[in-house]
Amino acid sequence: MDKNKFAARRGPSNEAVQVVVRCRPMNAKELANGFKKVVDVHPSRGVIEILNPRDDGKERKKSFTFDAVYDAMSTQEELYNETAHPLVSSILDGFNGTIFAYGQTGTGKTYTMEGSKPDPSQKGIILRSFDQIFNYISRSKNMQYLVRTSYLEIYQEEIRDLLSKDRRKTYELREAAGIGVYVKDLSSFVCKSAKEIEHVMYVGNQNRSIGATNMNDHSSRSHAIFMITIEMSDTDSFKKIIRVGKLNLIDLAGSERQSKTGATGERLKEASKINLSLSALGNVISALVDGKNPHIPYRDSKLTRILQDSLGGNSKTIMVANIGPASYNYDETLTTLRYANRAKNIKNKPRVNEDPKDALLREYQMEIARLKEKLRLMKELEEKKELLAREKYASEKLEMKIRAMESKLLCGGKNIIDHTNEQQRALEQQKQEIAERKKREVEMRQKLELQEESALEIRDTYTTLQQEVDYKTKKLKKLFARLQSIKQEIHDVTEEFNADRRDLEAAQNELLKDLKVRYLVIDNFIPADEKNKLLLRVRFDESDGSWYLLPLVPDNIVTVKRPVSSGGERRPVSDYGRVAIRLGRSHRYQGENILNLDLEPHPRTTSDYTGPIIAPKIHALLEEAMREEDDLDVDAAPLSNINFGARAKQSRKDREKEKLLKGNKARKKSSDLSSQSGNFLSTPPSTPPLFPKPRGLIPK
Ligand code: ADP
Ligand code: MG
Repeated sequence: MDKNKFAARRGPSNEAVQVVVRCRPMNAKELANGFKKVVDVHPSRGVIEILNPRDDGKERKKSFTFDAVYDAMSTQEELYNETAHPLVSSILDGFNGTIFAYGQTGTGKTYTMEGSKPDPSQKGIILRSFDQIFNYISRSKNMQYLVRTSYLEIYQEEIRDLLSKDRRKTYELREAAGIGVYVKDLSSFVCKSAKEIEHVMYVGNQNRSIGATNMNDHSSRSHAIFMITIEMSDTDSFKKIIRVGKLNLIDLAGSERQSKTGATGERLKEASKINLSLSALGNVISALVDGKNPHIPYRDSKLTRILQDSLGGNSKTIMVANIGPASYNYDETLTTLRYANRAKNIKNKPRVNEDPKDALLREYQMEIARLKEKLRLMKELEEKKELLAREKYASEKLEMKIRAMESKLLCGGKNIIDHTNEQQRALEQQKQEIAERKKREVEMRQKLELQEESALEIRDTYTTLQQEVDYKTKKLKKLFARLQSIKQEIHDVTEEFNADRRDLEAAQNELLKDLKVRYLVIDNFIPADEKNKLLLRVRFDESDGSWYLLPLVPDNIVTVKRPVSSGGERRPVSDYGRVAIRLGRSHRYQGENILNLDLEPHPRTTSDYTGPIIAPKIHALLEEAMREEDDLDVDAAPLSNINFGARAKQSRKDREKEKLLKGNKARKKSSDLSSQSGNFLSTPPSTPPLFPKPRGLIPK
């Protein structure tokens, strides 16, 4: 293989799909059957030659050149290192990549993709890619990776999740800007090691076989797609750009022509569906290679839609075409080689996927950052709590210290507060005592003064007579002055009393006047019994000195109570209602609870209307006037000819006869109308018509 050629195609723009062909060795059965080998593989030139076993060497060998070809001697490691390894490296740079194995059943697709266990040297592309991915990640520095896997199967055009417990559930494809085509609700598992991802693959493979009657049959008729999504971001750079590499590892269904002959029911359906996906793949490849039609029929099948990016889009793609060497496979091998040869020309445009919308890594990073922030806050909180506890402890300690110190300030076994309180109380008592003492002092002083006065008096009595006269004159004067003032006071009081009396008298007069007026009004304008009623109701309230009227309904009248219904209920209740109450149901608003009372007709007090008696002549005239329009004889003859009297006398029988005759006439007339215009009624043409003539039909 020209390895440089492959390396040169790792550039960013237009990159062709890599097509490698692998021819498996002849198996024991083939060897035993002595089948001829018709395929020649030339790995050094990338050439495959195939000889038609049917024409015994007359025809020239068909030769096909590919990016790389692998013969029976090639090892799994060789194939991986030369083809898949560079592609997986690209995935780790943020490119999309697809490796799919195409070929007839039994040619080694599964062997190529998965390998055969348990020999590690037999590991296929999938397992080797796991190793490469996780080795690369473990060696990388300052990078963060998130590896997710999904595993799905397309069987009979239905997508099933091989990692979901529900094997019956089918999944739909969706397309979104920035994401591309994806399987909606497909489960995905985050893997942290090659072991984990291997386990995921193993679980998926187990699921693949469930429900299949024949595992080989099933796997040859279904497409298995193992998806690895690697999200990566530089932890060092300031702006953390996320890149995503997606790797699709596909083990396609057998490309052999599904024989429809004899296939019925489920088998036929299955055959047609397998053909549908693979023929759609062929059509997509053809359309891409042809390039004439811009429309690529990706939507024709689930497989082509999933491979949309891998074929002609943003992906690096490797197609491994598996062939068998034996002569009996010639036709299928040739078909595969032609198919693969065409696929070589598909041009892809791979580019690094930066900042995709569905990056889980970003979400994880953000979540981690959020959690870290939370953790930091929690730590801070914890620290604060600790500080608080320490402070609390310190304050408690301080408090204890204060209490201890306070206890030291105790006086005579009492603490300082109690002591002060007691002192305060003693002080107040003393103050009170002082006040009382003062009061007593004053009293004593007053007593002393009085005693002094009387003593003085006694002393005075027993001194000189002159002094006594003087003293008594003085006293008399004093008393006289007092008498005078008292007299004046009496006069003043009398004067005041008289004035008050006068005022009161005046007011009394006014009131009497008013009362007289009121009495006059009462006597002259209020009926005596009404007055008496009011007088009976009027009362004087001694407490506030005012008059008031008793309520209109005297208290002694007993208020009429609601009659109680026979059942003791507040309202009359029907028997039904009572039963309903006993049964705990509502008895109200029930149809059975409503009484229908028919109104009794009132005796009639009026008589029927009887018309006035009309003279027979007038009656006849009125009848004539009230006759129906049909009965009117429209006569064009002069009015004088109409004899009202005679018409009135005409019997009903006659009139009916006349009507019949007229009807015949009218019918006859309508038939004659086309030829005889104007002669509408049976009047002679000479007499002028009373009504305007109809124009009739215009003769042609
Ligand atoms: P497919 O998946 O295309 O139907 P398998 O991968 O099941 O084919 O291969 C059929 C058989 O051939 C398996 O037993 C496998 O081990 C064997 N086989 C296929 N390719 C090779 C190879 N290159 N070297 C050795 N054995 C192979
Ligand atoms: Mg297989």
